[in-house]
Amino acid sequence: MQVTRTTPVVKPIDCEHYINGKYVQSNSGETFENINPATKEVLGRVQLGGKVEVDQAVKAARKALKGEWGTMPAKKRSQILRKIGDLILERLPELAALETLDTGKPLWLSKSVDIDRAANNFHFFADYMTAVGNESYQQDDIAIHYSVRKPVGVVGLINPWNLPLLLLTWKLAPALAAGNTVVMKPSEVTPMTATVLAQICTDAGVPEGVVNLVHGMGETGAAITSHEDVDAIAFTGETITGSAIMKAAAPTLKKLSFELGGKNPNIIFADADLDDTIETTLKSSFINQGEVCLCGSRIYVERSIYDEFLEKFAAKAKELKVGDPFNPDTKVGAMVSEEHYTKVVSYLDIAKEEGGTFLIGGNTLFEDKGFYIMPTIITDLGKDSRCVREEIFGPVVTVVPFDSEEEVLEQVNDTHYGLSASLWTTNVKRAARFSAQIEAGMVWVNTWFLRDLRTPFGGMKHSGLGREGGAHSMDFYTELTNVTLKL
Ligand code: NDP
Repeated sequence: MQVTRTTPVVKPIDCEHYINGKYVQSNSGETFENINPATKEVLGRVQLGGKVEVDQAVKAARKALKGEWGTMPAKKRSQILRKIGDLILERLPELAALETLDTGKPLWLSKSVDIDRAANNFHFFADYMTAVGNESYQQDDIAIHYSVRKPVGVVGLINPWNLPLLLLTWKLAPALAAGNTVVMKPSEVTPMTATVLAQICTDAGVPEGVVNLVHGMGETGAAITSHEDVDAIAFTGETITGSAIMKAAAPTLKKLSFELGGKNPNIIFADADLDDTIETTLKSSFINQGEVCLCGSRIYVERSIYDEFLEKFAAKAKELKVGDPFNPDTKVGAMVSEEHYTKVVSYLDIAKEEGGTFLIGGNTLFEDKGFYIMPTIITDLGKDSRCVREEIFGPVVTVVPFDSEEEVLEQVNDTHYGLSASLWTTNVKRAARFSAQIEAGMVWVNTWFLRDLRTPFGGMKHSGLGREGGAHSMDFYTELTNVTLKL
């Protein structure tokens, strides 16, 4: 394994806010550095926004809501959304390279998942808004009853760093489809693709003021969530931040949609197709450096195949190439930032203190170059171990044996989280019975990460509030007025 210097396939950009259809700098003149986690080099400077810039962005969004955008026929808005998707695909190589520079993830992953699916989000909602009818219509003897969907208003979109453009567009596409205007805040460590996206929206025909972007830190997000003229907040990030946002949004009763943390179980029964299971478990453990909310980082294996599973799984995991994200052979890139790397490394120390055994990994790599952690498989930890219970969000998984369906179900549900789960079994009755009892918003049976944009996405318990996807997104991004018309 080796890490080489990141190939500068694209010039990194300095990141400015985008307010009322123009790139602008902060009134204070304050900026901060954007660091490449794969090399520790400075990529550029980012404008630091505060209350002043957020207020300017909200005012622009409010004005645009009352303008052309609010009254534009759905067909025309749909054409604009389609064009945004097309432009993202046209600029895929550039956007993918910027995403990789910002996040440290392998370039092939940025291309095939992050940017491709970002375009898909716009294409999906471009179709959706013209294909799906308006609300139901009912007539009785004395009246006609029907409902009208309206945009919810000015929406704050606050996003994390792990899938920066993909998760932003996941919110932006339905928000625009429904006729809202937005103020977006990307993570401070991954500001570049959102900056380009703002201009793409204008190039596609989105009127000025509809899409606004303010860069900054947590306080910048807080200025959005507490702003009295923001109607709704769609947030993806940590559970603890979701809780802070709920408090900040309470005085103005904002509508909230939360996609939060997870500690997702991957449950493998002895009757599963083991080769298939291991191939997918490798992805659900280590793809994107384990920095995916859906990663199955708690692995439970039926005892009769436990040893065989561990041997084959560890052998495959050892083969994963760690290093330069621009190398096409790299499977695991750099952790997103020094802060996050330090957090993940602290869990390796916790695992040692808790008496865990590192089957593979447990160490960092290329410390002088960037923030790399070896894929790590930990065994011999009890169910109360912090590594088994807490979200690590890195290439670190725990594996625990189980003897019965009842025993594993109890362990699977013994958590505050409830985002997703994977279940591996060829017994259809067990698949139906077990998946119905798992306390999670999404359950995959004999697969992982497959997504149909029409289906509900989201978590229960401390993993989220509400659902995104198809009609579920449209429910969040619209208000309903019911009309009763007396005959
Ligand atoms: P954070 O919660 O730290 O940050 C998310 C966003 O919120 C960032 O833009 C951040 O700004 C901003 N923010 C921070 N504090 C506040 C505040 N008080 N008010 C408003 N905004 C604020 O999450 P991470 O970026 O660390 O992302 C990782 C987390 O996201 C993990 O827990 C992961 O599970 C979760 N996630 C969930 C998904 C899901 O679908 N359920 C999908 C992907 C990730 P800044 O960056 O400047 O701190």
